[in-house]
Amino acid sequence: MKFNSRESFFAALQADPDRPLVIAGPCSAESEAQVMQTAEALKRQQVHLFRAGIWKPRTRPGSFEGVGSTGLAWLNRVKRELGMKVATEVATARHVEEALKQEIDVLWIGARTTVNPFAVQEIADALQGVNVPVMVKNPVNPDLALWIGALERIYHAGVTDLAAIHRGFSSYQKTKYRNVPVWQIPIELKARYQDLAMVVDPSHIGGKRELIYPVSQKALDLGYDGVMIETHPTPDLALSDAEQQVTPDRLAEIVRQLQVRKTHY
Ligand code: PEP
Ligand code: MN
Repeated sequence: MKFNSRESFFAALQADPDRPLVIAGPCSAESEAQVMQTAEALKRQQVHLFRAGIWKPRTRPGSFEGVGSTGLAWLNRVKRELGMKVATEVATARHVEEALKQEIDVLWIGARTTVNPFAVQEIADALQGVNVPVMVKNPVNPDLALWIGALERIYHAGVTDLAAIHRGFSSYQKTKYRNVPVWQIPIELKARYQDLAMVVDPSHIGGKRELIYPVSQKALDLGYDGVMIETHPTPDLALSDAEQQVTPDRLAEIVRQLQVRKTHY
């Protein structure tokens, strides 16, 4: 199996393949005003893809679980009024159907879904014959085969614009990371599938703002194609993942500092 997706994924986002892909937006869509305000700021920063979660997989009940389908209309408004491409997380076939109805440009599969082949297959079945770009996050546990298996299920559904997102792996031990990167795993994935588009998610790896830049730079040094960075107009007030979100201005600074030191291998 070959995932020759790098070129087509960049083309789907109308992005320059010689520059890192920048995906940004809030962890969660919280209100129409917050979504529009963030998207307007990110459009000025020339972000390629606006992200926002509307169905949020929270570890324990009682936390903010997302605004649900209502948020799809807000993303559709970002698309229509600002001309940006938009992305959201899908975890079930119903999510896929609803997202496609609202013309969401790119879907992603979250880490807690990638671990479950039944769930991934249901998503793949819903994608049959659609060919919308899909990004697959690594599973929460450090299992390369499970990550590849999820990519294969989506690829077999006919999706050609595929990307893998490295968001780190959970660990019981306390470390400086929220999710340990275990760089050997994405390095091996990239060595096996050299033309698979690879994106790093330094927000979920680091879990804190100061790790976003170093983790992103390390990934670019390893030949990754882009970054996905959680961005919120008032990060401290965010309803989810507050400690790891940055303002649009800070995002722009981080992106400016990032250097492409080497071309992809
Ligand atoms: C997210 O991107 O907000 C998210 C829930 O990520 P993950 O699936 O990596 O935990
Ligand atoms: Mn998040």
